[in-house]
Amino acid sequence: MNRGLKGLEERVFQKNLCIACGACLSLCPYLRSWQGRVVKLHDCGLEEGRCFAYCPRTEVDLAPLQRKAYGKNGDVEMGPVRKILMARARDPIWRKKAQSGGVVSALIDFALRKKAIGAAILTPRDTDFLSKGRIVRNCEDILNCAGSSYVSGPTLEALHKGPWQGEEKIGVVGLPCQALALAKMRTAPVEKKGSIDKVNLVIGLFCTWALEYETLMVFLKKRVGEGCIEKMEITPPPERLFKIKMADGLHSLPVDEIRPFIRNGCGVCFDMTAEFSDISVGTVEGIEGWNTVILRSDTGEDLFKKAEGEGIIESQPLPEDHLNHLREASLLKKERAVNAIQEREATEGING
Ligand SMILES: Cc1cc2nc3c(=O)[nH]c(=O)nc-3n(C[C@H](O)[C@H](O)[C@H](O)COP(=O)(O)OP(=O)(O)OC[C@H]3O[C@@H](n4cnc5c(N)ncnc54)[C@H](O)[C@@H]3O)c2cc1C
Repeated sequence: MNRGLKGLEERVFQKNLCIACGACLSLCPYLRSWQGRVVKLHDCGLEEGRCFAYCPRTEVDLAPLQRKAYGKNGDVEMGPVRKILMARARDPIWRKKAQSGGVVSALIDFALRKKAIGAAILTPRDTDFLSKGRIVRNCEDILNCAGSSYVSGPTLEALHKGPWQGEEKIGVVGLPCQALALAKMRTAPVEKKGSIDKVNLVIGLFCTWALEYETLMVFLKKRVGEGCIEKMEITPPPERLFKIKMADGLHSLPVDEIRPFIRNGCGVCFDMTAEFSDISVGTVEGIEGWNTVILRSDTGEDLFKKAEGEGIIESQPLPEDHLNHLREASLLKKERAVNAIQEREATEGING
């Protein structure tokens, strides 16, 4: 079996499973990102390549990968967990611009100020709304990246592209697929070139699914008109609305209207809580302005404790019903992924 670009094309691109995380970009001249997609420019004769090895949608044996990353296997529902709590940034500067409690932005700023990292890769919401990675080194840049874009994009390309200054360490904020790609980069049985060894902090975002750029933009232009999208939000049930803040005001659509634009590759993703991260962060449904936080590694626990100790972050226990709901939602995503994979295999079997 080819484990290079040919294999990636057959197993991921042709099956429409690519989520355009960016892990394969800027490693070779044959792959480029275009309008939120990864496109192949030319065939490659290699039998084995980093593009295949790093892709979160090529096969991976998760249990050994977890053991390599954390020294042990984690919970069935949520992977390796040391502590789960709810938290928010104390300084309103973060909470004002952030998606929920501002924990992600405040922790990245704290890690930079403490020189635990020299730079971070974030994903800004540019005016065209095309998500891509940006290297940040100061508070102003972090604020410019705050908030969620529910459109996924090639954030990880920035890791391979740089430029990086000397021996500086890097923090990365990414979706579960991107955190998995980083774990695969660390352990891939191919020659490692590039900057993965510089990464010493991964903050993962919870994610049920992400949207595909091109088709969503065509739909939104027709549905809500053209203009710069300032904020996107998905409200919890029973309301379940996709809210878009634009210069002309707030537009609210039922989430079902945007479901057709969910990336196909999200359907086979088993990971809602970014299990391959040092710290995973989501929104606490129904308690505005707070984040759910999962501390997973020494690095994550240490950073969070220091930030809390210095008054950057405040935390509380996560209420029991929220914890149970998180477990259920996380397990449900795994079940859906298993069903989707089985259905695909059955169809492929029938079609030869
Ligand atoms: C596609 C997507 C789906 C999500 N689904 C869920 C969910 O189902 N349940 C849940 O609880 N939470 C979900 N989240 C996470 C939630 O929206 C918040 O990002 C999280 O709670 C952190 O909040 P915060 O206030 O600390 O973030 P902020 O301080 O505002 O920081 C958010 C960070 O996210 C990064 N970011 C934004 N968009 C992207 C993107 N597309 N790709 C990579 N990085 C990005 C930015 O660089 C920024 O640094 C999702 C986020 C995304 C992007």
